[in-house]
Amino acid sequence: MKLKFNIAIVGSGLTGNIASLALSEAGYKVALIDPNKFDKFKHKTYDTRTTALSKKSKLFLEDLNLWKLIEPHTCVIKNIMVNDGNTKDNIYFKNPLNASQDALGYMVKNKALFSSLIIAIKKKQNITKYDSKVLSFSRSLENVTLELSNGVKIKSDLLIAADGKNSFIRKKAGINVYKKNYNQKAFIFNVRHTKKHNNLATENFLEQGPLASLPITQNKSNFYSSIVWSCNYPFYYKIIKYKKNDIEDVLNFYLSDYYGKFKIISDIKNWNLTLIKANKFYDTRLLLLGDAAHSIHPLAGQGLNLTLKGIEILYNLAIEKSIKKKDLGNDYTLKIFSKKQYLNSITIIFATDKLNFLFSNSNIFLKKIRKLGIYTFKKSSILKNLFKNYASAGKLSIK
Ligand SMILES: Cc1cc2nc3c(=O)[nH]c(=O)nc-3n(C[C@H](O)[C@H](O)[C@H](O)COP(=O)(O)OP(=O)(O)OC[C@H]3O[C@@H](n4cnc5c(N)ncnc54)[C@H](O)[C@@H]3O)c2cc1C
Repeated sequence: MKLKFNIAIVGSGLTGNIASLALSEAGYKVALIDPNKFDKFKHKTYDTRTTALSKKSKLFLEDLNLWKLIEPHTCVIKNIMVNDGNTKDNIYFKNPLNASQDALGYMVKNKALFSSLIIAIKKKQNITKYDSKVLSFSRSLENVTLELSNGVKIKSDLLIAADGKNSFIRKKAGINVYKKNYNQKAFIFNVRHTKKHNNLATENFLEQGPLASLPITQNKSNFYSSIVWSCNYPFYYKIIKYKKNDIEDVLNFYLSDYYGKFKIISDIKNWNLTLIKANKFYDTRLLLLGDAAHSIHPLAGQGLNLTLKGIEILYNLAIEKSIKKKDLGNDYTLKIFSKKQYLNSITIIFATDKLNFLFSNSNIFLKKIRKLGIYTFKKSSILKNLFKNYASAGKLSIK
């Protein structure tokens, strides 16, 4: 017997979880499929990253009634400083409003984000979670049939692939990708520092690769930030051998003016960095979402924010279709989604890719261009467009 759903979502990472909540809110019956049990996401070592959410993402999460669950775990970003470690130039993205009135973005630990989403999903009657893998699927013009590793068969109007950058569904559907290996790995860890962070996020373009410091919690006497250091391979192999206090020395050298002395207070994890962009985001009764569609460089913290833009487009289409009692998986609707989200992703991919290339490269010609200084970029739309995504339009000033 086949169980009938409106939508089957494969993958319950951040993308699949938020998409399931959005579509359930729009009135659809959703099957959420991932072999990882919800408890695994809460496990101490599962995902030690933090995510910077933009103002726009926050507003959408508010519409979905999720922000109230997430907000207690967030730390506000009030200002962003972009430094060129090679020339000592910087750009300060300053929030011109009274800091207590507005924020450029919000930092949240991925584990807290997962936990909040799981609480919300468990309350939804129209989301069913299957702790299984998708073994196979077939599509016709009318629907999709999926076979799960626990023997369950599911029939739905639409299949959403939210199964990450190495998407099994995307591969089986024969959708090709553009892939670029950045020859970098990101070191991720949390630090305590002696000065208040004053809700300042910094992105430092060093010869070794972009180093971001992102504010997390602070109380009267303890101040914490999260570090994402995307290291170029020649340096990565050197730095991987460093002891914690060697890395603390690097942080002290570049960042102590803003944060004081650093102490690493977590394990140091590392992540492979590759750009993946699917050649198309939809096919018959199939839609790619999140990293399955576009996995980008983390230097400006845009991956999940880009995904949320896509989920918002889908949510608006879903509400429209649900009122007219029409199915969401028809070609025409998927084409509208894809057109908008493809454009969103091209813009962000271009900006992150070019910035990383320019500032993380030891090529002599590029070094000369860099010497023109990061101020050159004040007039360029690349940097502005990337970081202004963290503010609502018109509220960001650059000093
Ligand atoms: C170092 C780093 C820092 C980042 N920082 C930020 C940031 O500050 N801000 C921001 O917006 N973004 C950031 N991002 C990007 C963001 O974290 C990712 O875009 C996001 O986590 C991707 O989530 P996903 O659910 O699409 O994919 P994944 O997290 O990869 O989830 C895929 C899920 O699919 C499941 N799955 C796989 N195959 C199957 C199958 N056959 N059947 C069923 N299930 C399956 C897996 O078990 C997994 O749970 C960062 C990324 C990195 C690497």
